[in-house]
Amino acid sequence: MYKLDEFMAELERKNPAQPEFIQAAREVIASVIDVVNANPLYLKNKILDRIVEPERIIQFRVEWEDDNHEIQVNRGWRVQYNSAIGPYKGGLRFHANVTLGTLKFLGFEQIFKNSLTTLPMGGGKGGSDFSPKGKSDAEIMRFCRAFMTELEKYIGPDTDVPAGDLGVGGREIGYLYGTYRKIRNENTGVLTGKGWGWGGSLVRPEATGYGTMYFANEMLKEHNDKFEGKRVAISGFGNVAWGAVTKATQLGAKVVTLSGPDGYIYDENGVNTPEKIAYMLELRASNMDVIEPYAKKFGAKFIKGKKPWEVPVDMAFPCALQNELNGEDAKQLIANGVKYVVETSNMGCTPEAIEAFQTARIPFAPGKAANAGGVAVSGLEMSQNAEHYFWSAEEVDEKLHRIMQGIHEACAREGKCADGYIDYVKGANIAGFKKVADAMCQQGF
Ligand code: GLU
Repeated sequence: MYKLDEFMAELERKNPAQPEFIQAAREVIASVIDVVNANPLYLKNKILDRIVEPERIIQFRVEWEDDNHEIQVNRGWRVQYNSAIGPYKGGLRFHANVTLGTLKFLGFEQIFKNSLTTLPMGGGKGGSDFSPKGKSDAEIMRFCRAFMTELEKYIGPDTDVPAGDLGVGGREIGYLYGTYRKIRNENTGVLTGKGWGWGGSLVRPEATGYGTMYFANEMLKEHNDKFEGKRVAISGFGNVAWGAVTKATQLGAKVVTLSGPDGYIYDENGVNTPEKIAYMLELRASNMDVIEPYAKKFGAKFIKGKKPWEVPVDMAFPCALQNELNGEDAKQLIANGVKYVVETSNMGCTPEAIEAFQTARIPFAPGKAANAGGVAVSGLEMSQNAEHYFWSAEEVDEKLHRIMQGIHEACAREGKCADGYIDYVKGANIAGFKKVADAMCQQGF
């Protein structure tokens, strides 16, 4: 029998200085421990001991030349966490704060997220402590070339299929893919998030944000509610936030905030015109990592150094970074009457924030369920690449919609509490875990 505190103490001892990984692991283990202890096969197979341990971690040196002809050195990693249900699959994150612990937390989350999509994808994650902020396009290309020159040795369309994440969008995937193609002399579906016309899938750029809104729509329906007229707070302004704003607006909601490391903007009229939404992409492409120019351009308010969670809204969607919404932010949102919180960034809320929402019986969706649309369409991109064919936008969007409905159904089934409240965290963790654990048992060790 597993005991939560004993298990976590040992995990912390073995993984010092990896607080994000420990946080992610504690949440999953706490959700599934009763299921494991009630299943003799899981116990016999030592599933928990095995599932927290990555199958493989690759660390490499990335050396590249900046525009001043100076040599720069960064660290690169790929965490190949679990391949029981399919090739390792997960994004690459380029951000100054990335550590191995960050990528282990993201890789661990990815195992269960990918399982929830019902597509055959294992869990992995990679990235670098390289910061794209302030870099020229040429520097980004040289960095990507150097990164892939190392990474290509360990990946492949049936082995490990990286994609984008924070700091890695269509441009970076292009440079990474171009490097892989030259070294290997082959065109294969080794990365997803590729451009349209060279193996990319329609709807992949929008998929994470759209998927979140499809999931939120199911939550609303479950509570006999609807999107029309809802005031929405969104954080971030990158690819995920962009897709989320687009779909929320289409569904009749009014998005009133966006944010960056410099603060947040409050747009009382809503971030709702094609021009405003397209400007988010322009800001991202500028590599400046600031949101203030939006306020200047569209006459919105800019609140320096603050987070958008102080604005009264019906729904909050953290779409930026892990732990971006803490216990204090949660209290403020609750006091202002928030009705639903949908984590769109990976582990966007701290455990204190989640506890506050759940205690107040406010439906709260975890990122691994709500943001699974991105990797789901990556899975569909892999299918199209394997077929050497492509599907229409309607076909992909329809499949994404069905996948998100299925994830909601699974969470609601596994997470229903005695008082009718749905614990989406528990539901997502149990549903995602069972499929992987069963595969591990069936395949032996
Ligand atoms: N980085 C995204 C995520 O967190 C997408 C991963 C992928 O498409 O492989 O799920």
